[in-house]
Amino acid sequence: MRDIVLLDEIHAQIQKCTKCVLSRTRTHAVPGEGAADAAVMFVGEAPGKSEDAQGRPFVGPAGKFLSEMLAGIGLKRSDVYISNVVKCRPPDNRDPQPGEVETCTEEYLFAQMALIQPKIVCALGRFAMGVLLDPAMSIMRVHGTVYRRSGVLYLPIIHPAAALHQESNRRLVEQDFQKLAAVLRGEAL
Ligand code: URA
Repeated sequence: MRDIVLLDEIHAQIQKCTKCVLSRTRTHAVPGEGAADAAVMFVGEAPGKSEDAQGRPFVGPAGKFLSEMLAGIGLKRSDVYISNVVKCRPPDNRDPQPGEVETCTEEYLFAQMALIQPKIVCALGRFAMGVLLDPAMSIMRVHGTVYRRSGVLYLPIIHPAAALHQESNRRLVEQDFQKLAAVLRGEAL
């Protein structure tokens, strides 16, 4: 049983955070949601328009696709934990700046990971992969490959939004989720 009170405390801090400029233009901060003892944690880039409006991660079109992919391997959103590298929407969906990433990960994302202690962290897309693993990696080359860093498993997955923009990516995302399912069954690394 993970410490739900502590996770709620982190969420509350994020909701009132003013540590970087993104707090000035956001509507709602988006802390993350899901099970505090989840075996799987998903980390996206940053909230988009729908997420900023609702204060919840992955609730727009990419989120709908993520939910579909989860259902495909027998998981519900409430079985996993979903968050982002930065918790506030960057203006016009620009890439988060290095200082914003450093502040938000040091203050919040790494604390969330330490508390939840997932079996595997899925980096959704190039940006999250760059922050969690290595910015020199190419997502199209390494997606679906499991990495172990300091005792934690990481799986880079093609971003669900990329599957919406390009139909051929859909099959690749499905394959990445099949890999995740195999890891959870203890069959693949
Ligand atoms: N894209 C992301 O990376 N994160 C979200 O929360 C929504 C869309």
